[in-house]
Amino acid sequence: MPPATNHHCTFCDIINGAGEVSVCYEDSIALAFMDIQPVNSGHVLVVPRRHFESFEDLPPELALHLFEVAMRLEPAVRAVTRAQGMNIVVNSGRAAGQDVFHYHVHLIPRKVGDGFDIPLPFPGSEMQNRMQLDACAARIITRVHQPARATARTGDVAAD
Ligand code: AMP
Ligand code: ZN
Repeated sequence: MPPATNHHCTFCDIINGAGEVSVCYEDSIALAFMDIQPVNSGHVLVVPRRHFESFEDLPPELALHLFEVAMRLEPAVRAVTRAQGMNIVVNSGRAAGQDVFHYHVHLIPRKVGDGFDIPLPFPGSEMQNRMQLDACAARIITRVHQPARATARTGDVAAD
């Protein structure tokens, strides 16, 4: 299926057979292939066949399926690469570092001292106090429940 926008999509090309690719898993919904510029050898991308830009655009069943595929591949990638650890990463949105706007899950095999890092906690960040953390949690709780209340008012099926 073509992208929702008119923008060219490298991963749609790959899925449609129009680009070089090294596939390591496929089913009717998803494809996994080797990242062309791996952090370490064995770096895999798990990709839906249908074009969705980012995490927020995914139907939940599809998101779950992609993580099931990632879980299935992870032990194989770890064994083949003799990795000591694995970063399972999703960059969702330009601000979060997403470069290819066809949703994908990274499986990045890691070894101690390989030089890659996702520095958390972020060195420039400050510890928050419990009041700040609780306030933020409360706002999220309210927001999570808001769409269900809004749809209930309009007579649509509630989300929970
Ligand atoms: P992200 O920043 O999460 O969007 O990551 C995009 C990833 O896609 C990068 O790790 C790229 O190396 C990888 N990539 C881009 N083009 C291709 C391609 N044609 N085949 C395989 N991997 C690709
Ligand atoms: Zn696409």
